[in-house]
Amino acid sequence: MIEIPRFSASELKDIVHLFGQEGVPFHYRGLTTSVSRYGGVTEYILIVDKEDFDQCIDLLMEYFVINTVPDQPFVGVCPACEARIDGLFECPECGLSMRVGTLSQTKSHPFYAFLRSNGLLPQEEPNPEDRFER
Ligand SMILES: [Zn+2]
Repeated sequence: MIEIPRFSASELKDIVHLFGQEGVPFHYRGLTTSVSRYGGVTEYILIVDKEDFDQCIDLLMEYFVINTVPDQPFVGVCPACEARIDGLFECPECGLSMRVGTLSQTKSHPFYAFLRSNGLLPQEEPNPEDRFER
């Protein structure tokens, strides 16, 4: 059995539905943290069989919109200023980014950290937006 951390109650609800549709067997257990007299925060850990692990990861990556394909340079018309963009990552006129990479809020999710620590993410290209965070 493999444990996959860590999902909120509303995410778990979606995942139960999604895995049910796909017929993927799984278990989960709650993990309550930050307990105080006001209650605590309960998050959930998925538990899946080893043979279902790959399918589970695929489904979860799809659910969280985690991109495994590096962005391609954009060719077309800028949706903001209608300038012609010919194979660039951003608009030369207004600077609009044409990247469709994984959202940074997704990257702070425990599941993303799990993927990263298990080497399940593709090689990440350096993202210019990240450089100010170091
Ligand atoms: Zn533009």
